[in-house]
Amino acid sequence: MAKEQRTFQAEVSKLLDIVAHSLYSNREIFLRELVSNASDACDKLRYAALTDDSLLDGEADFQIRLSVDAEAKTLTVSDNGIGMSHDELVENLGTIARSGTQAFVEGLSGDEKKDSNLIGQFGVGFYSSFMVSDSVTVVSRKAGEDAAWSWTSDGRGEFTMDEAQKDGRGTTITLTLKEDAVEYLEEMRLRTVIKTYSDHIAVPVILEGTQGAEGEEAEDQTLNTASALWTRSKSEITEEQYKEFYHHAAHAFDEPWLTLHNKAEGVVEYTNLLFVPASKPFDLFDQERKSRVKLYVKRVFITDDCEDLLPPYLRFLRGVVDSQDLPLNVSREMLQDNPVLAKIRTGLVKKILAELSKKAEKAPEEYATFWDNFGAVLKEGIYEDFANKDKVVELARFHTTKGDDMRSLADYVADMKEGQEAIYYITGEDLDSVSQSPQLEGFKAKGIEVLLLTDPIDEFWLPAAGTYQEKEFKSATKSGVDLDQVDGETKDGEDKAEDKPDTPALDKLIAQFKVALGETVKDVRPSHRLTDSAVCLVADADDMDMNMSRLLRRHQRLDQETPRILELNPGHSLVKKLTALAEADQSKALIDDAAFLLLDQARIVEGDPIPDPAAFSRRMALVMEKGLG
Ligand code: ADP
Ligand code: MG
Repeated sequence: MAKEQRTFQAEVSKLLDIVAHSLYSNREIFLRELVSNASDACDKLRYAALTDDSLLDGEADFQIRLSVDAEAKTLTVSDNGIGMSHDELVENLGTIARSGTQAFVEGLSGDEKKDSNLIGQFGVGFYSSFMVSDSVTVVSRKAGEDAAWSWTSDGRGEFTMDEAQKDGRGTTITLTLKEDAVEYLEEMRLRTVIKTYSDHIAVPVILEGTQGAEGEEAEDQTLNTASALWTRSKSEITEEQYKEFYHHAAHAFDEPWLTLHNKAEGVVEYTNLLFVPASKPFDLFDQERKSRVKLYVKRVFITDDCEDLLPPYLRFLRGVVDSQDLPLNVSREMLQDNPVLAKIRTGLVKKILAELSKKAEKAPEEYATFWDNFGAVLKEGIYEDFANKDKVVELARFHTTKGDDMRSLADYVADMKEGQEAIYYITGEDLDSVSQSPQLEGFKAKGIEVLLLTDPIDEFWLPAAGTYQEKEFKSATKSGVDLDQVDGETKDGEDKAEDKPDTPALDKLIAQFKVALGETVKDVRPSHRLTDSAVCLVADADDMDMNMSRLLRRHQRLDQETPRILELNPGHSLVKKLTALAEADQSKALIDDAAFLLLDQARIVEGDPIPDPAAFSRRMALVMEKGLG
């Protein structure tokens, strides 16, 4: 095959354009990215060689080598890892192969300064080399193959592929440095950058000695510690090193919120170096719910796609787990239903939940940010992990009607009113609208706390949670909530019974409403929960919660709306007036219209559509006209 010119995928061109003109001040991270890729390439070959050691071809010492040519102004990074074939070079370095980089492109705003900062936030991997280079040449030979290929580009829209000569397997990347980036030819600079970002890399990073002026050979020097970070003892590792390792292992660029570095000894032996990120990874709510934690066996990388290592509800964790007890020749398939792995998983889950619990207790404010990021994911554990359900429930934090602070269920129960039997909650789409729900009026008046639940997942864990400290969970938007039993701190002192119309008169109004509304409602009842609003809708005690059915209908899982109960507030002046009319057998048609209008009003407050907007407008106009005299 002869030389061929190819154009970058449009997104890559866009990205390269930003990278080349970037104002990003941490340009040195290009080296971290290249070393990180080289180390991944060594890991991949080491794993592949477990089943086919001919791939190593007698050369099992993995290395990453840096060399500089001061005259040519080039810096070369080479590795003897797995290498890339022709097609892999084209695919990996010509398209956006990785979703993290995709997220970078999607995040672009067009504002140069902001976009430059995104480089730090998402990382742009290999392409970051164009921050410091006028041109980049990659020569690669895949392990087990004879052909080598070169990939060259100046980062402006095109790259060239050509046949190449290369002695061993692996990848050699040569950067022709920009005029303002010649600092990366200096030994001191390279040493500092490698120490800062790549010390934790388990493969040695070697700087090749250059010939001095007098012609004497300088020695090669290893710049990093070159032992896997997690095998070192905690006291020897700095925060900075943990952070850089997290960046490498997680392909993330924020700070770790929590670092869990432990050695488990006992039934099974393993080391974990896990991180909880400080911000939400972009793929947190992917359908696959995959864990990204890397599994190593005796320091050999096995996979970062192991379903059984951690349950999906802990998929926000990043980092590595290294096992002593799995066989080195374990294949990814053998990991399914593996009893050793199951024990490791049990141990990890226990440890992680315990650490989260500690943090919740010691640093509630920091914990609140964690909960904000990952609470919705962690709550999946309440119905997916029966053994740890109670612990996860304890870790949950809630917004409630009590104020801005996040509350635990323990807080809630401790503050329950005399006579209060249940834990009340309301579910909906967002805090603002749920907290304004008319169904909460009576609770607020009596000072009864209600949990405000706004994650879609809440509808699913609630039924699984059962009870908490023997208290049932009850929806505030269902019938059968008896607030009269609860000894609340009624705002105006006592029940405003004298303001409420006589029961027989109210019964008459209700009877007429029922006839008018027919099948559209399940029942019409006087309300015990309303104080300010005239009406509200509630679900019958055994029916599906209203928010749940809304969710299901939106996802086409439910085609019919269940009829609801319309509650009337007997103390509301409008209801009182209607009651008087009904008692006097007057204005029958007006009462019928009022029944429909009030039902529609209740629907609007729920955020539900009005089934017949034309009829609604007609009635509304009629009633307004009457009101105007
Ligand atoms: P990422 O490392 O996050 O996947 P990069 O842009 O850094 O993204 O690299 C893109 C891909 O190019 C890598 O996933 C890998 O497949 C390939 N690659 C890059 N450098 C090397 C290398 N030195 N050896 C083998 N493959 C490499
Ligand atoms: Mg990379």
